[in-house]
Amino acid sequence: MRFRTRAIHTGQEADKETGAVVAPIHVASTFVQPGAGEWGAFDYSRSGNPTRKAFETTLAALEGGCGALAFSTGMAATHCVLASLKSGDHVVASSDLYGGTYRILHKIANRAGITVTLVDTTDPAKLEAAITPETRLVWIETPGNPLMSIVDIAACAEIAHRRGAWLAVDNTFATPVLTRPLELGADISMHSAAKYIGGHSDLMGGALVIREKALLDELYFVQNATGAIMGPWESYLCSRGLKTIELRVREQSRTAQALAEWLVSLHRVRRVLYPGLPNHPGHELAKRQMDGAFGAMMTFELNGDHAATKRFCESTKLFQLAVSLGAVESLISQPASMSHASFAAADRAKWGITDGLVRLSVGLEALEDLQADLDQGFNVALK
Ligand SMILES: *Cc1c(COP(=O)(O)O)cnc(C)c1O
Repeated sequence: MRFRTRAIHTGQEADKETGAVVAPIHVASTFVQPGAGEWGAFDYSRSGNPTRKAFETTLAALEGGCGALAFSTGMAATHCVLASLKSGDHVVASSDLYGGTYRILHKIANRAGITVTLVDTTDPAKLEAAITPETRLVWIETPGNPLMSIVDIAACAEIAHRRGAWLAVDNTFATPVLTRPLELGADISMHSAAKYIGGHSDLMGGALVIREKALLDELYFVQNATGAIMGPWESYLCSRGLKTIELRVREQSRTAQALAEWLVSLHRVRRVLYPGLPNHPGHELAKRQMDGAFGAMMTFELNGDHAATKRFCESTKLFQLAVSLGAVESLISQPASMSHASFAAADRAKWGITDGLVRLSVGLEALEDLQADLDQGFNVALK
């Protein structure tokens, strides 16, 4: 079955008892056992829940995993991977990185004796050079946040595996529609389900999709032992989100591509970072690695200072000023003061997260309205 058919049917069978075409939401915390010491398919909802299982089954089928695990948030999913490491282990991560991932690596994982090196993973040679005998995990993000850098997943998988490390890919921006990291050799694909999977700014959730059974078992053990599972309501909403994810992502990407092409032509914009533009350094790679579109996230640099950028982000109306992304509502943010405020100032400067950067999450509104909204923002902020 094709992607969008699997998104609707795999793991989402009609209810056997009633015939309801949508399976019921199982809110039970516990399940009757066949006998003392005998276990059915489900026993306690931290360990497993039918509604969560349905979402995990669909997501795993979309990304070609042997299984998936759903969490309370994206950070809980990331934490589960880091909690499977031990003291003395080393992580290499992309420098173009979600702010919360930077924080958990530098301020939580370090407490357990795990060390981290950030590198520009768009250059595989730099990744190779950063790996030590202690490196157990390579963590990449593509497109990266907020600079929209494109990382070669297959090349990173080859290097990581040759050097005895797992490769995990934060696939939140790319979505299962546009990139399927496990097919390119990654071991783990991670999602913040609050973004494109949910797609409507109305839930928190996270997920890991895992390629091989042994690693799935290990991560399941950590998840069950630590407990940050996705609840049944969110699991239902995520299953529902997956049913329309291909349509949403393709349409939002189409609008983003048109907006990016328009923004490049404006003198008020210094540069536009969008992998769908032919002059983007990762364009050719993105064409191979992303399935037919370049996503709906983009960043651009205003021809203005911190204050003008702040004014601009505060002056748009359809693009609402908020962190998060991936929903039908368009959002705008200033990474330096919002999503990447947790970066040390020196790291922001080093990795090019400047005050003039504006990040857009392009939603499902009409292109013309979004364009008019940005246009009036330019007029207000950059007179
Ligand atoms: C939002 C986000 C996360 C963290 O997920 P939460 O659900 O907020 O915990 C991680 N990576 C990326 C790229 C994100 O956008």
